[in-house]
Amino acid sequence: MLKGQMMDRPLLVSSLIDYAAEVHATSPIVSATVEGPIHRQTYAETRTRIARLANALLKLGAKPGDRIATMAWNTHRHFELYFAISSIGAVCHTINPRLFPEQMTYIVNHAQDTMLFLDTTFVPLVEKLKPTFMPIRTYVAMTDRAHMPSAEAIAGILCYEEILADGAPDIVWPDLDENTACALCYTSGTTGDPKGALYSHRSNLLHSFFVLAAAQGSFMPTRPILPVVPMFHANAWGLPFIVTLTGAPFVMPGPKLDGASLFELMDSENVWGGWGVPTVWLGLLDEMKKRGRKPHSLSRILTGGSAIARATLETYERDYEIDIVHGWGMTEMSPVGTVTQMTPEERAQPFDEQMNIKSRQGRRMYGVEMKIVDADGKRLPHDGAAQGELYVRGAAVISGYYGNEAATKAAIDKEGWFGTGDVATITADGWLVLVDRTKDLVKSGGEWISSIDVEAAVIAVPHPKWTERPLLVVVKAPGANPSKEQVLAHVAAKLAKWQVPDDVVFVDSLPLTATGKISKKDLRAKFAEHRLDAG
Ligand code: ADP
Repeated sequence: MLKGQMMDRPLLVSSLIDYAAEVHATSPIVSATVEGPIHRQTYAETRTRIARLANALLKLGAKPGDRIATMAWNTHRHFELYFAISSIGAVCHTINPRLFPEQMTYIVNHAQDTMLFLDTTFVPLVEKLKPTFMPIRTYVAMTDRAHMPSAEAIAGILCYEEILADGAPDIVWPDLDENTACALCYTSGTTGDPKGALYSHRSNLLHSFFVLAAAQGSFMPTRPILPVVPMFHANAWGLPFIVTLTGAPFVMPGPKLDGASLFELMDSENVWGGWGVPTVWLGLLDEMKKRGRKPHSLSRILTGGSAIARATLETYERDYEIDIVHGWGMTEMSPVGTVTQMTPEERAQPFDEQMNIKSRQGRRMYGVEMKIVDADGKRLPHDGAAQGELYVRGAAVISGYYGNEAATKAAIDKEGWFGTGDVATITADGWLVLVDRTKDLVKSGGEWISSIDVEAAVIAVPHPKWTERPLLVVVKAPGANPSKEQVLAHVAAKLAKWQVPDDVVFVDSLPLTATGKISKKDLRAKFAEHRLDAG
C-alpha cells in the first residue's frame, strides 16, 4: 500500500469551540434560563467559560475517561458542559430526566458516573434518588449563588457559577486520540434495561459534517437556530456541534417548551430554524393559530423522532410558508440517518405531491448506508414495495452498546450492520418510508413507553397531539368484570403518569403469532381506526 502523506490530525470536539471562538467570535449564544431571564454570550465568551469549567473539572479531580453526568435543559450551561467535559477527555453523559426513576438509578450505576451536574428543577428528584446514585461523588447545581438549593436537599452540592469563577480562563486542550469516547446517551429498550450509545470525538465530528452536507444550506444556515429537541436526547440531534461549524446564532429554550414560550422566544430572537419532535410543532401551531401569524422569521423546521401528521405538515407549509424538513434517526446513529432531500424536479411538483414526498422519512445522508432484510436476514430490493427490517452502517452508528454484550449481540448482524427495529421500504432513488416497528414500544411526544412495562397487550394508536399513545387491550379473567377505570387505576399505580395508557378496550381473546406470542401486528390492524381524545 502506498500511504497518503497527509498530517494525521485528530477530529476533536475541542477544535470546534476553538474554531467558533476565533472565526465566529461575536455570534451569540442565547439561552432562556431556569432562573427566568434570557442570558446572552458570544461564542468567544463561551469558549472562555468552557475553559474555566474545564479547569474547574480538573481541580475537582476529573480524569480522562470519567463519566460525568448532566440532568439539564437546553441552556448555555449545558452547552458549556458538552464541550468542557469532552475536551478534557472525559465523557459527557446526558441523563434523560423523563425516564422512570428506577431507570435513572440503573443508568447512573451502569455508567459509573462520578459527578452529576443538575438544573435546580431536578433537585427534588435527585434528592430522592441520591441514596441510589452510588458512584457519584460530586453534585453541582447549574446556577448562581442566589438560586442555590438549600444545603439540606443535597449535602455538599456545589454552585456552577462559583466553580467556574475559580477556574482559570484559558486552557490548552489535550491532543486526544479522535476515537476517545466523548459522550454517552442511554436509550430505553424493548425489554430490559436502557442501553448506552457511547459516541466518540470522531463520530460526533463526522456526524456534523454529514448533516451539513445533507442540508446544503437548505435547513442549516448561519441564521438563528433553536433546538427544541432536548440536549439530554441524542446530543440534541448533533446541533450543538453543528452550529460551532457554521457559527449560527444558537437560541436555547431552557425548561419551557410549550407553544407560547417557544413563540415568544422565536419572535424576540429572530429564530429562522427550529429542530424538534412533531408534538412540539403541534403546540407551536396552536399558538400560531391563536395569534394569526407565525414567529416572524421562522422559515425552516426539522421534524423527526416520530412521523409527522400529514395535516400538520400541510398547515405549516401552506398557511405559514414554513418549509418542513422531515428526518429519521436514532440515538444509536448520533442520531440523524435520513432527511428530506428533494431534487429540483420534485420541488417543481404540485403541492399535494410535494407533501407526499415530505411525508416520507427522507433520503439517507452521506455516511449512512441502509439495507432492508427479510426474516432470514436476506437483502430485499429497494423498489418501494418490498418491506423489511431496516439495518444501517456508518461512521456515526454504534458498533455495540456500552458494557452490554447481550444487547450488542442482538442488535448487530453477521455483516456488522446495526438493526434499527424499524420496518421500511426504500425506493430505487433512495426514499425511506417507515411502515412498522418490530420494537415493542410506543412513542409519545418523542419519548418511549415500553409496552412490556404494562401487563396485557399494549399497542400504539395514532393520537392527534402526541403522535402515538398506548391503548391497552385486555381480556377479562373468567368471572371478573372490571371497568375501564378500575383497569387504568391498577396500571397507574405501577407506571409514570405519562406511561399510563389512554384507553382500554376489552376483547374475548388476543390474536397469537405462529410462535405463540401476542400478535401486535394483528392488534394494530384491528384497532387502527381507534380514536383517542386530543387531551
Ligand atoms: P430520536 O427520537 O432522537 O430519533 P430514538 O432513539 O429515541 O431517537 O428513537 C428512534 C426511533 O424513533 C426510530 O427507530 C423510529 O422508530 C422512531 N422515529 C424516528 N424518527 C421517525 C420519523 N421521522 N418517523 C417515524 N418514526 C420515527
